[in-house]
Amino acid sequence: MSDSLRPRPVPGLGSNAIGKEEEELVLDVLRRKEPFRYYGLDPKSPPPMVATLEREMQAYIGIEYALAVSSGTAALEVAYAAIGLGPGDEVIVPAWSWVSCFTAIVRVGARPVLCEIDDTLNFDPSEIDRLVTPRTKAVSVIHYQGVAVEMDKIVLAAHRKGLFVVEDCAQSLGTTYRGRQIGSWGDVAIYSFQYNKTATCGEGGLVATRDQRIYERAVRLSDLGNYRPYHAGIVTPKEPAFVGGQYRMSELAAAVALAQLRKINMIREHCRKLQSRVLQKVTGLKGINLRRVPDSTGDFGFEIYLMFENLEQVAPFHEKLNALNVNCGARTGTYPQYNRDYVKTGLAHHPALSPFKDFKEWPAPGYRAQDFPRTEDLTKRYIALPIGWLYTEEDADYIGDSVVKIHREVCG
Ligand SMILES: *Cc1c(COP(=O)(O)O)cnc(C)c1O
Repeated sequence: MSDSLRPRPVPGLGSNAIGKEEEELVLDVLRRKEPFRYYGLDPKSPPPMVATLEREMQAYIGIEYALAVSSGTAALEVAYAAIGLGPGDEVIVPAWSWVSCFTAIVRVGARPVLCEIDDTLNFDPSEIDRLVTPRTKAVSVIHYQGVAVEMDKIVLAAHRKGLFVVEDCAQSLGTTYRGRQIGSWGDVAIYSFQYNKTATCGEGGLVATRDQRIYERAVRLSDLGNYRPYHAGIVTPKEPAFVGGQYRMSELAAAVALAQLRKINMIREHCRKLQSRVLQKVTGLKGINLRRVPDSTGDFGFEIYLMFENLEQVAPFHEKLNALNVNCGARTGTYPQYNRDYVKTGLAHHPALSPFKDFKEWPAPGYRAQDFPRTEDLTKRYIALPIGWLYTEEDADYIGDSVVKIHREVCG
């Protein structure tokens, strides 16, 4: 390696692949002056973007129904309400997950029950048997950073107990497991098109399911309780009217998301190619294991996790990698749900709405760091190396060489 520092490559996935294709579809919406999904100037031809995004997502995932909404968080709230969750119900969800994985459950009045992750950094399937109670209604898995959850094990364990399986695919559109897209394994799946995701339109989300009742309920929940003729052409409505929110996607957002969806396989192939270059160099280094990937053929490949046997090596390794201009991340301390303020207070926006209001002591067991020894241990042991759309083969080789060099210094 030369002595001069290589400049940091710019991280990011779909956001950095925005180009002509997105421009053309957005301009099409603007030139037609039709930014609203359900109607525009010509009543005989409704605007196409959201409807096309839904059809292409549905085909891509390999599932019957897809409904675009305003964000991944909205999709989660809609999905939980669509499967009928409410006060008194429990949902098992990893302690290691994004904010809305917890808050969406609280927002529908149900109680998140936190579980451990395993060496895949995803939901540990054996946690279902440990945590299930007569009140459990669903398990919610997060496909964390492009690596699929072991869905065959999850679906088997959950369905044996009569539980819904919710798949949070927000971080991992484009990931497969055993030859099938994630999102096609459970009862309902959600996606996000927020800026940091594999495909983006700034803000956006989507609910996917093969269940007609869940689809109808999701439509009503996302559109003020309405069920418009467009959806009646897809699934005949059977549900009585009930109150919904307003989480519709606009044609402008859908135009960008659609162009991005059409690039997702190209982005994944790029990441996988660079990831394998890095892995060739860093696999087998003494004292460093890799995140366990249950199906490496389905991995999106946008983040490599080095798992250190010796915890004391993590901080100096991280610091030295950073000093070499290698983009890398270690746990910030705020990521597990039990470390976040809304769990520490146990509050909802009104005291009566908190699913924790009947606990005598708070935080109760199951909501404290000491209750999650494996999650605590695993998430302090890693350094994550992102790979982005703008990274080159030279960047990948530099990352690999830098890890090997610092390994000699820190672990040698
Ligand atoms: C980003 C994300 C969400 C929420 O998506 P938004 O579009 O940001 O609301 C939900 N779950 C996970 C795992 C996420 O990473």
